[in-house]
Amino acid sequence: SASPALLEVSGVTVRFGGITALDGVSFAIAPGSIAGLIGPNGAGKTTLFNCLSRLYTFSEGSIHFEGQPLTAYAPHQIAALGIGRTFQNLALFRTMSVRDNVTIGGHCRSSSGFLANALRMPWVRREEAVLDQRAAGLITLLDLDSVAHRPVSDLPFGTQKRVELARALMSQPKLLLLDEPAAGLNHEEVDGLRLLLRRIQSELSLTILLVEHHMNLVMRVSDQVIALDFGRKIADGTPAEVQANPEVVRAYLGAA
Ligand code: ATP
Repeated sequence: SASPALLEVSGVTVRFGGITALDGVSFAIAPGSIAGLIGPNGAGKTTLFNCLSRLYTFSEGSIHFEGQPLTAYAPHQIAALGIGRTFQNLALFRTMSVRDNVTIGGHCRSSSGFLANALRMPWVRREEAVLDQRAAGLITLLDLDSVAHRPVSDLPFGTQKRVELARALMSQPKLLLLDEPAAGLNHEEVDGLRLLLRRIQSELSLTILLVEHHMNLVMRVSDQVIALDFGRKIADGTPAEVQANPEVVRAYLGAA
């Protein structure tokens, strides 16, 4: 029997005035897999991510995460539920060290935060020690040890992207949403990113959904590829199946 999906999207429809950004989109993602979400500009990829983060509400359909309806949770509860996210544009604290940028990711989930820390409550200090240890583990996992104490602004863009990834992993997500992780990277960095995604997926038993325009990366790293066009799902399958799908070929040739 098939294992239950970690994420189940059913008939999700989102409208903005006269525009139907998502039109009855359905798919499921198995736990522990890497899924790529592709589609030409305006296909609805970001809109779908925003639904998964509860930043947008959908007018029809449902989204279930581990069998729970997402609509039962507010946007600020999504990280604690186990859905993490990175954004297209980096939002790092540029003058702070790599280590501090990563550690801050743990505070998004903690109930205590900086104020309680400043008041030096003993249970908070214990929690801080746990977060420090977790940050150290992620810094090693993402090959950031040699730059851990450097300010982020000193580092090449590709390294900064790894810092952002480490920070997103601090909340210990079960599902990680990556918004164009390869954007702005050179060939060598994209290759490194591919290996890194495989490494974090297996070491952290993580499920990853990535929006990506870099076809070579998507097709080589994904177990499953979902293609959208004008808000509709036009293909869903293995990379080989999706690449050979005539609707996908047409969508990309038409957009070129
Ligand atoms: P890209 O690859 O360029 O990022 P995308 O696949 O992420 O594109 P979306 O950003 O999801 O596409 O956009 C889908 C459609 O919905 C587009 O027509 C867009 O203009 C529209 N749209 C998205 N967000 C909004 C919004 N907040 N208000 C109005 N229209 C929106």
